[in-house]
Amino acid sequence: MELTDLQQLFVHELKDIYSAEHQILKALPKLIKATSNDELSTALENHRQVTEKQVERLETVLAGIDEDGRGQRCKGMEGLLEEGSSLLKEDATSQVLDAGIIAAAQKVEHYEIAAYGTLVSFARRLGHTNAAHLLEQSLIEEKEADLKLTEVAEFYVNNLAA
Ligand code: FE
Ligand code: FE
Ligand code: ZN
Repeated sequence: MELTDLQQLFVHELKDIYSAEHQILKALPKLIKATSNDELSTALENHRQVTEKQVERLETVLAGIDEDGRGQRCKGMEGLLEEGSSLLKEDATSQVLDAGIIAAAQKVEHYEIAAYGTLVSFARRLGHTNAAHLLEQSLIEEKEADLKLTEVAEFYVNNLAA
């Protein structure tokens, strides 16, 4: 892929997070199934639904600049999700596993926060006002998901795991 200006890097990064969101959509049901805490499974299920809308939002942004999400595999997300799924194979008690699932999910959220933060800045600089607005919505949702997971960890899961 040719990368000689910010617009091209914008497209590159959009394709990366598009791939990441798809990988998350595929992985979340497995994580949800592995949880034994209702607060946690509800939080993850809510975020799964939010993620479906984020994928649509990315499709809107990409279509707005005559692009699509094809052509890139997010290796960063692949690695993070691999760590998450290998955790599920450990010999863990259900409470400790819940704490570990939160840890893995928050690493995913932080990757996304970094990605969307950059994308919002790029979109603004490039004058893609509508794209900036849409990407900012997703950025806010990722931050909310991260906060929610901290809350679930600190109010419910960590106490049980300790
Ligand atoms: Fe997301
Ligand atoms: Fe990536
Ligand atoms: Zn997310």
